[in-house]
Amino acid sequence: MYKICMVGTGYVGLVSGACFADFGNTVICVDKDAGKVERLKNGEIPFYEIGLDEIVARNLKEGRLSFTTDLASAVKKCEVIFIAVGTPYGKGGEADLSYVWAAAREIAQNMNGYRLIVQKSTVPVGTGAKIRDLVAKTLKKKTAFDVASNPEFLREGSAISDFMRPDRVVIGTSSQRGEDMLAGIYAPLYLNETPMVRTNVETAELIKYAANAFLATKISFINEMANLCEIVGADVKVVARGMGLDNRIGGKFLHAGAGYGGSCFPKDTSALATFSRKVGYPLRIVKATIDVNDGQRQRILDKIRRAVGPMKGKTVGVLGLSFKPNTDDVRDSVALDLIKALLRAGARIRAFDPVAMDNARAALPASVVFAEDVWETLDGADCLILATEWNEFRRLDMAKAKRMMKRPVVIDCKNVYDPKAMADMGFVHVGVGRGIPLDKQKRTDG
Ligand code: NAD
Repeated sequence: MYKICMVGTGYVGLVSGACFADFGNTVICVDKDAGKVERLKNGEIPFYEIGLDEIVARNLKEGRLSFTTDLASAVKKCEVIFIAVGTPYGKGGEADLSYVWAAAREIAQNMNGYRLIVQKSTVPVGTGAKIRDLVAKTLKKKTAFDVASNPEFLREGSAISDFMRPDRVVIGTSSQRGEDMLAGIYAPLYLNETPMVRTNVETAELIKYAANAFLATKISFINEMANLCEIVGADVKVVARGMGLDNRIGGKFLHAGAGYGGSCFPKDTSALATFSRKVGYPLRIVKATIDVNDGQRQRILDKIRRAVGPMKGKTVGVLGLSFKPNTDDVRDSVALDLIKALLRAGARIRAFDPVAMDNARAALPASVVFAEDVWETLDGADCLILATEWNEFRRLDMAKAKRMMKRPVVIDCKNVYDPKAMADMGFVHVGVGRGIPLDKQKRTDG
């Protein structure tokens, strides 16, 4: 069993730390946000992730998991230190690594013996080598250490099962000692025969960006097909199904919509595009993926304007604020972008989300009205935007919705509802790539 320090207790750090504790290790989770640490000490989870509360409570009780703001003392007690801090958008679209450097510097200042420093945050190739240099330069007393890369692939909303039953674990190391330790930490997963990809640090760093960029590319690809479908009268859902049934392609990440958002894909594609340009090989496919994604949000706004007419004074109901269902994360959420653009155009916004209201409130202008439920959201609305496909929005009583709305306009960003059934009910249903070109649809602005 290992003594592990997890620096950063966000979506990745807290889940990883709690799961490592559940494997039987002793884990100290460190965060510089004192409020967050206080809540965690009381067993309160600072964000929404199904099943995480149970694992945290169990391991707190067993004494395997603890929380602190004191990185210095955690570094002194632990042989393995994971860095799981944020790597948000930086200047010019590259990854902002300032939190990584700050963590690495503080780790180095407090090392009192061999340490394995594991980079879990998503970082550009070469970051591991730079951490190695920074630590070597900062060390107070010469001490052996290793730097490894162990990128994380968990998805918010299914983070626990993704961590406990991953498709693979990537271990990037530059020494046998580091490799053995990291493989030892993940040894409990051998029972499930989890594939381990053992490689060097640089390759591990690139695997994470390559995987995210590829998934983002699948989304942008199907969105372009959807846009083509709207011109030629084809249905992208059926196109995606017909494609996805081919085992070489697979149906996942082939859902047309308003484009990808969230805490990873937008910043990671941007960082990869910027990084590749800097090293002299600009990745054209990644650049195209980003361009298509940006265009997709604009297309949805154009569709709304077309279906509703001038936005000034119109009331728009928005269902779903998190960037995807089963999370309260609103970072780079498409819903928030649409709301901000519609507010600028003079619309009044009423919005509802099952769990992301607090985060959305903090990120949106005060003029947004947060509704109690679905029905308050769409009461008297000129238009309803279905932005996130939470289960509870998938089978709404549309007859009731039609009675309550001022105008029967539904902008279905996630293609949840059947266009024909909606049209038969008298709705103007605007989906993404669903066969009925917008210029053939009824307008509602007279
Ligand atoms: P997050 O913003 O939720 O959490 C980061 C935490 O680190 C915050 O609580 C912050 O206070 C803390 N922190 C920052 N600097 C610190 C320091 N010096 N000492 C102690 N704590 C510090 O971020 P996240 O979503 O967990 O993402 C972390 C990394 O993992 C990012 O690189 C991200 O790209 C990557 N990642 C995220 C996901 C995901 O679904 N969120 C999935 C895979 C990989």
